[in-house]
Amino acid sequence: MRKRYAMAVDTRRCVGCNACVISCKTENALPDGGFRDWIATEVNGTFPGLSMEIRSERCNHCSVAPCVDACPTGASHVQEGGVVMVNAQKCTGCKACITSCAYGARYVHLGGYVDKCTFCLHRVNREQQPACVEVCPTRTLTFGDRNDPDSAVSRLIRSRKVKVLQPETGNQPNVFFLS
Ligand code: SF4
Ligand code: SF4
Ligand code: SF4
Repeated sequence: MRKRYAMAVDTRRCVGCNACVISCKTENALPDGGFRDWIATEVNGTFPGLSMEIRSERCNHCSVAPCVDACPTGASHVQEGGVVMVNAQKCTGCKACITSCAYGARYVHLGGYVDKCTFCLHRVNREQQPACVEVCPTRTLTFGDRNDPDSAVSRLIRSRKVKVLQPETGNQPNVFFLS
């Protein structure tokens, strides 16, 4: 079966230390002000019964990706494992993809092209974990093939309560938040 890469983010483990954000910047030599992942916080409940969810967020590598459909040059495309990528050489920086993404996952690189999370495909193809997954001190992040029922990510998605962000978009995200 073809691979379908996905990530599970355990919101019960994340402490919001930003190590994933810094390691992504270093690994992918991102420019000042450019981020492929970020930390979101959400407070729920009413005082004194408050709880806070901390989420390490990035591109969801959506199975139905409007950013790919919106791109007029073919720069945004789907690669092996369903990973949504941008070909910098083909990107004109028109921002149509940025407008179509409900998750704020893309930004304009100083080089004039649009950039976003690649699921660190360059590392995955060398049998390494994505940089953010490898560095996380609390093992919040689990990456793998969702089409392999025995993979760690599949087992987590099966066994834990999961949600995706903004399911109403119909984009079928492949980043799953465990609670
Ligand atoms: Fe959360 Fe891990 Fe990122 Fe730290 S490195 S912010 S614990 S996901
Ligand atoms: Fe495209 Fe945004 Fe989905 Fe990523 S999160 S695949 S950029 S629509
Ligand atoms: Fe950055 Fe790679 Fe993690 Fe995506 S998978 S957020 S590119 S380190």
